Amino acid sequence: MTTLVWDYTREYEAERKDILDAVETVFSSGRLVLGPSVSGFESEFAAYHGVDHCVGVDNGTNAIRLALQAVGVTRGDEVITVSNTAAPTVLAIDALGATPVFVDVHADTYLMDVAQVEAAITPRTKCLLPVHLYGQCVDLAPLKALADKHGLHLIEDCAQAHGARHHGAIAGATGHAAAFSFYPTKVLGAYGDGGATITTDAAIDANLRRHRYYGMEKTYYVVETPGHNCRLDEVQAEILRRKLTRLDEYIAGRQAIAARYLDGLGDTELILPATAPGNTHVYYVYVVRHPERDRILDELKKHDIALNISYPWPVHTMTGFAHLGYQTGSLPVTEAAAEEIFSLPMYPSLPVDVQTRVIDVLRTLL
Ligand SMILES: *Cc1c(COP(=O)(O)O)cnc(C)c1O
Repeated sequence: MTTLVWDYTREYEAERKDILDAVETVFSSGRLVLGPSVSGFESEFAAYHGVDHCVGVDNGTNAIRLALQAVGVTRGDEVITVSNTAAPTVLAIDALGATPVFVDVHADTYLMDVAQVEAAITPRTKCLLPVHLYGQCVDLAPLKALADKHGLHLIEDCAQAHGARHHGAIAGATGHAAAFSFYPTKVLGAYGDGGATITTDAAIDANLRRHRYYGMEKTYYVVETPGHNCRLDEVQAEILRRKLTRLDEYIAGRQAIAARYLDGLGDTELILPATAPGNTHVYYVYVVRHPERDRILDELKKHDIALNISYPWPVHTMTGFAHLGYQTGSLPVTEAAAEEIFSLPMYPSLPVDVQTRVIDVLRTLL
């Protein structure tokens, strides 16, 4: 069997009864859309983060888009973010007709270099959108100070950082709003698509709820501002409720796998993930770096180990974003990393013997 970066089948074997019970609960409830499972999950996910509000949506991309929209980002506004991220971060900005403005990342953690943000602020800047990439938090204190100083909104992209902490504060609880994805691979993953936006602000919450429901306050009501249909599915919500009770276990499982990689590969020339000061890493992906990345990936394939790169193309170099006008060389740290990084298998149900084999094969190649 090919060894992959991610695989949910063993987790499903272990949790099958609970997952199928979640499906049965919804199918027999008489409520298939925006019922008790969505509202239950929303309260429980908000409570997990110590915030007042959570709005379940259909995916992480829309969670970001609605968050931006709810704080007033609109056509012509600028949103400062990073190019070293999943394309959907940037697509969410683009979907509103706003302009993404990129700053570079740190060479060791690949996280937003917050020292570059102030110079990127212009009179059109409306929002800062840090991405808690790979499972650890961007340093939010300086960003919050900048947001306050310049009257900007701060939205956290938490799609890769469920349960991550920075100096004890949980990812998503600092910004005006924070967006999560429950795409199956994520630290908290659904059995299909899902997302959520959390906030402490009641006005933002009300805005999010309208935007996800056609722009209406309630069913068969007037549309005051045209919205969308971005509802979280009731079945996925019930599955997420069950899985949320195990989120801390999933995180501990990922951290144990990271500890075994450190143990098995720490003395090689492979550059292993660095954790920034004050951070608790939840290892959504385990990103390593080597100048001969492409050779290593080819060799691994011969051993039936098929790995991924998160991400091979920085967003600013993609053809679809050519109109933003970034030249190659404009974000040197991001561009250099994209040539050399790759991800090792990382998911809580990864068997120890499979991980040991990956480590052993890698050691023979290095
Ligand atoms: C997964 C991801 C998204 C998008 O989430 P979807 O649920 O796939 O729409 C956005 N931002 C980041 C950083 C992600 O990793």
